Amino acid sequence: MTAAKLRVAKGSDTMPVYSPHDGSLIDSVDLTDSSEIDELIARARRGALLSRNLPRHQRSSILDNAAQIVDNRRDAFAETIMLEAGKTIVQARKEVLRCVNTLKLSAEEAKRNAGEIVPFDSYAGSEQRQGWFTREPLGIITAITPYNDPLNLVAHKLGPAIAGGNAVLLKPSELTPLSAIRLVKAIIEAGLPQEIITVAIGGTDLGKALVSAREVRMVSFTGGFATGEAISRAAGLKKLAMELGGNAPVIVMNDCDFDKAVESCVSGAYWAAGQNCIGAQRILVQAELYGRFRDAFVEATKKLKAGDPSRQDTDVGPMISQQAAERAEVAVNGAIAAGAKLLCGHRRDGSLYHPTVLEGTPHTCCLWREEVFAPVAMLASFSTLDEAIGMANDPEYSLHAGIFTNNLVAALEAAGRIDAGGVMINDSSDYRFDAMPFGGFKYGSMGREGVRFAYEDMTQPKVVCINRR
Ligand code: NAD
Repeated sequence: MTAAKLRVAKGSDTMPVYSPHDGSLIDSVDLTDSSEIDELIARARRGALLSRNLPRHQRSSILDNAAQIVDNRRDAFAETIMLEAGKTIVQARKEVLRCVNTLKLSAEEAKRNAGEIVPFDSYAGSEQRQGWFTREPLGIITAITPYNDPLNLVAHKLGPAIAGGNAVLLKPSELTPLSAIRLVKAIIEAGLPQEIITVAIGGTDLGKALVSAREVRMVSFTGGFATGEAISRAAGLKKLAMELGGNAPVIVMNDCDFDKAVESCVSGAYWAAGQNCIGAQRILVQAELYGRFRDAFVEATKKLKAGDPSRQDTDVGPMISQQAAERAEVAVNGAIAAGAKLLCGHRRDGSLYHPTVLEGTPHTCCLWREEVFAPVAMLASFSTLDEAIGMANDPEYSLHAGIFTNNLVAALEAAGRIDAGGVMINDSSDYRFDAMPFGGFKYGSMGREGVRFAYEDMTQPKVVCINRR
């Protein structure tokens, strides 16, 4: 089955998909025209009926089969991610393994979490009643995904949605549609009736049409703040899940395991060329350790091999596009002009932006306050944990944070007071396990991924109550 056959689009336009590494043509896909929205919705309506009528054991075995298919073809999946997103082949392989786990977790979720008994006799007056609530599908869910994890973030929407008995209108990033199309093919090959997932390929106009359609019950979005705001304006009365950006702080205390802290912060800052919503962007180091940490961090950064993502020994691949790398360059120039000191990197070859370290970035700078989404790390020193927590909480939004310390009291103090959806102790901010609740605090974030949590967001309780007298 070709990619094109998966979609219902009849538009005659095709869209090329280019390699971010060398600009070569990888493939082309048919574009979905937003004027086809009625047809897409009619198909999804049929899909929703099919999906809700699939017994849980079938939803589960389809998702398990899909996990097996992805695992069997892990090399092909990894190569697709590497080609279209520019992730290094080593990182792309890890994403594929995570996708397998996400599908397996979804298969398990389909069989549990079906509802609960309601204890009607727990207050006087309802003793004669008994009943339960079930978790029912929402119906049609629009899922919109970004480019940076083009496979696993799609699995995080499709897996729980199918487990919950929904139909999905999926619009992957127009920059990386191939991994998503491959995944949908695998799920259909695994036995899912085709109409349950519709893949629509296109950009903003198509996204708006899919988001605003009245019959869509939920929009599950992962992407940037500006897009999240546009979606919330266009969506109207429907459930929204907003998995947005971050600007993660990592606190490094004097008493930490030094080598581990350096290694984890380097990996956390540059994974996926920094195009990572939980990437370590602001590394706050306690004053006594600062000089030693800075030297080790800069030395380790300089050793990273940046370049061809297909090579086993490449640590940092290209960014998604030359424009994205130019944006990073401009943001760093702005910070330097405002007084930040460049410690290494800040070189650009086309879409490749070399890992960059700054110190002394003024806290009023965009680079400090906003998400950079590039291989850029800022170092800053602090004296007390109080001060570090204040700096960690600076930005208007937050997703993850990290702290390195061997002091349990300090670790728990930070975990309690940092305003973030997750605080990693003795890991950088860049740790995620696909079964844990995942999402942001503060501006704009709503809902949680992590299979069980997305499944709960993507289902609605229905109460059944029996009056015995
Ligand atoms: P983006 O917001 O530019 O695009 C995301 C998706 O939204 C794409 O499919 C795009 O076509 C679509 N879109 C754009 N305008 C739209 C509109 N008006 N209506 C509907 N859809 C529209 O994001 P990106 O550049 O692809 O990804 C990077 C961002 O994603 C970063 O901010 C990153 O932090 C965030 N992200 C968050 C998480 C998370 O789980 N919290 C994970 C990965 C990435």
